[in-house]
Amino acid sequence: MSDSSRSPRIVVLPGDGIGPEIVAAAIRLLDAVGDFEYDERLIGGVSIDELGTPLSDDALAACRRSDAVLLGAVGGPKWDTTDPAAPRPEQGLLGLRKGLGLYANLRPVKPLAALIDASPLRRDRIEGTDLLVVRELTGGIYFGRKDRSPDSAVDECVYTTAEIERIAVAAFEAAERRAGGGGGGVTSVDKANVLETSRLWREVVTGLADRYPAVALDHLLVDNAAMQLVADPSRFDVVVTENMFGDILSDEAAMISGSIGLLPSASLGAGSNGLYEPVHGSAPDIAGEGVANPLATFLSVAMLLRHGLDRGADAERVEDAVEGALGDGLRTADLHTGGDGERLVGTDEMTAAVIAAL
Ligand code: NAD
Repeated sequence: MSDSSRSPRIVVLPGDGIGPEIVAAAIRLLDAVGDFEYDERLIGGVSIDELGTPLSDDALAACRRSDAVLLGAVGGPKWDTTDPAAPRPEQGLLGLRKGLGLYANLRPVKPLAALIDASPLRRDRIEGTDLLVVRELTGGIYFGRKDRSPDSAVDECVYTTAEIERIAVAAFEAAERRAGGGGGGVTSVDKANVLETSRLWREVVTGLADRYPAVALDHLLVDNAAMQLVADPSRFDVVVTENMFGDILSDEAAMISGSIGLLPSASLGAGSNGLYEPVHGSAPDIAGEGVANPLATFLSVAMLLRHGLDRGADAERVEDAVEGALGDGLRTADLHTGGDGERLVGTDEMTAAVIAAL
């Protein structure tokens, strides 16, 4: 955590495609919020071009020393290759997650009032939705032993008590923070009627609940959770789940808000204040045109302020300012429907409007 005698140091990793445009916009926004020190480093394709590797040891070391890391996006057709020996931009992201020990992925889903009709779900279903999916990121079936013979295959799913405990703590603490220290709820999602790892998961999460008396804990089986997320999303506050269930449920939940240009994410780990990035990719089709939507990155900045720097009030100011600009009818091309009161703007004008609303 940052000590109060100096400005927090944020490592910025613009990356590829629209990454540099949206990260530059985010720095303008951060400068309007307070005093921050920036340390800009290379990641992804640009790092391959300049340094021959998608993530240099220097860049990783700078991230380790920082108070938080803000990432744009990586990748693009220039670096697409079928040669397994060639470096790939995404390896930079994986290296960062591994190098910083980021085991918790946080994805908030809160349809913004001005865009509620952009959701594929009916307004009355999604109004009032404000949930956070906390996904375990480094364990479970994606990282277990794999085996293959001509007529069978194995993917082993392993979880240890320690792995479950630390992700459950991340979820309980997030629930407390979201409720301003006053409580909130955690729904733990598993498949405890079938899977042994899920029975251990449920046991460990239940055992921790006593430490968070203000947080209400309930359990849902993953199949039921998938239904409830579209049938009644506003019933959820914090949803915590293992890696594969979280992968699927966080994408399902993302559809509630309707637009990829609006979704932020945070990845947290031990001894790191986290990595903050928009969910979308590097959008090479619109790179350099000044039309990229910076709002997912702005909402990632809000998460950085809240979870990385413990500045919840500033985070809310940023979120309200994004709502304000959208409420005034400003729309980047990806959000523009031609509806009454909408005004088509580029990255610059949207950024200026959010800063003005701040
Ligand atoms: P993408 O998210 O980059 O783009 C999908 C579509 O959404 C495109 O039409 C794009 O123009 C649009 N879009 C995305 N973000 C936008 C924004 N902020 N404003 C306006 N429009 C936006 O996904 P893709 O096309 O599948 O992938 C492109 C590249 O990004 C690939 O190289 C992929 O590997 C990489 N990628 C990186 C990340 C990451 O860095 N975390 C995530 C996903 C994809």
